[in-house]
Amino acid sequence: MGDLQNRLIDFQNESRTAYDDIMKILEDKYCWKCPMRSTSDKSRCREIHSGRVLQEAFDEGILTHLLEVDIDQVEVEALINRILKKKIKRAGGNQRETTIMMKLDAEQNIDRWLKIKINPRHLKMGDKVLVSDKAKNHSLLGSYALVAGFPFHAASVKRIFHEGNFWYVEIENDEIFPLDSIFGVMIGIFEEDYMSIEEEIDVFSLKIVAMLPDCTLKEVSDLFLEKIKQILKSESGYVAFIDPENRDSVGVSFSHLTESCQMYEEIGEARFKVLNDGSYGGLLGYSLDTGKSFYVHDISSHSAAHGLPPGHDPVNQFLSVPVKWKDQILGQIVVGNPKEDYNKNHVKIAEKIASIYALVLKILL
Ligand code: SF4
Repeated sequence: MGDLQNRLIDFQNESRTAYDDIMKILEDKYCWKCPMRSTSDKSRCREIHSGRVLQEAFDEGILTHLLEVDIDQVEVEALINRILKKKIKRAGGNQRETTIMMKLDAEQNIDRWLKIKINPRHLKMGDKVLVSDKAKNHSLLGSYALVAGFPFHAASVKRIFHEGNFWYVEIENDEIFPLDSIFGVMIGIFEEDYMSIEEEIDVFSLKIVAMLPDCTLKEVSDLFLEKIKQILKSESGYVAFIDPENRDSVGVSFSHLTESCQMYEEIGEARFKVLNDGSYGGLLGYSLDTGKSFYVHDISSHSAAHGLPPGHDPVNQFLSVPVKWKDQILGQIVVGNPKEDYNKNHVKIAEKIASIYALVLKILL
């Protein structure tokens, strides 16, 4: 290990010198005539430029060496990929086989989404795989290239084979890719109007994550209220968070079922003070008090119900889930007055939506 360690230390020192030299060359030969010069100390463009060209030279050095020792181009790609994966693994990335939804560039105003399995472990003949459109001369490969926005196309798998230490995939035009270079396996293309509820929630969560953190809690909570009402075909709903300062339950997005609701809307919240014993009480507080999800077809039949306040619009059925982050209760989502009777499946759907809202509260509160 001594020789290896010594050589790596030498290389680190050489890299540092090369980096310094490149910074100086940029400064002497290019930066003086560049309009960005006055801000380069703040934008750090010189540091970025130097780092990029040095990194590219390093990659090129390895690539050229591998090709010179007569390793086939496709195997070189597999090797480079394996190096990248090892690097990610050492840094803590798990690179598991995972299914993701990804929006395609919208044409003709149709919202189209791709469901893709990334980091596939196995493929079979006929699978539709997504492969790079471009010559394979970049160091980002597989799912990393997919999320980095490299152009791709779909192709059918003709053959899968193992050679040396790597798996390879042959596609319809006889092109061969290392398995690790595959951007992903296409599971389906969906238009928003024809998605299953699970797919719709996956897409919804992607939209929400894309909004964070540059949105207000009210903006994002309104979307949750609309989404859960739409999916659970419910006329009314209520989305609340627990104030981290004083543990009050604060309704931030809600249907207007009393005359006071408009006033609360203008204030921006409907606040229910936590009681001295730390509970919230009533049917509305039941999920917060117990951490449990539930639904009732007749609200007066529930043991926690103590009746609606005067002037409250009627509520027949009621479904409530706590918003939890691990064991911590961060908020609550409630719906009522559905078009079809609530059931256990509706609770599961609401819990899935609540788990996305938990992430929002964790980030925004
Ligand atoms: S962009 Fe920055 S690094 Fe590049 S030439 Fe201009 S000042 Fe120099």
